[in-house]
Amino acid sequence: MKMREREMTRPPQPVPTQETQPFWDAARDGRVVLWHCNACGRTAGPLSPRCPDCLSGSLSALTYEGRVLLKGRTVLTVPAYEGQSVPAPVAECVIEDEPRVTLIAADPDDLTRDLAPGTPVTLGFAANGDGVPLATITGGGPS
Ligand SMILES: [Zn+2]
Repeated sequence: MKMREREMTRPPQPVPTQETQPFWDAARDGRVVLWHCNACGRTAGPLSPRCPDCLSGSLSALTYEGRVLLKGRTVLTVPAYEGQSVPAPVAECVIEDEPRVTLIAADPDDLTRDLAPGTPVTLGFAANGDGVPLATITGGGPS
């Protein structure tokens, strides 16, 4: 019963797969890893098993070092899982080099509250017990 109670008060846990393992391994180091298509050069998101443009399966995991931009935000007012504290700000971000790549991050300190879409933000990863680290906004605003 204790395990069940614990699961009910934690956010749903991402389950790394062969395709997403490089992303989660890098997240533990605080890095954002995305896919680089070896056939056409496109950058793809961490959950893409193939290049979204040319469908090549030849992808390399590369650390993304460019800017991350705020695309939008929302504030959850109804808990998404039992035990979640609300209000819970959530940010939708894109990478500057490939705006079709979207990353969703928690914003527990509400750092995006007064930011306009297109503003650079800092994406980090918060420890999550024994689960994979969760994408989190750790800074933002004009520099
Ligand atoms: Zn491609």
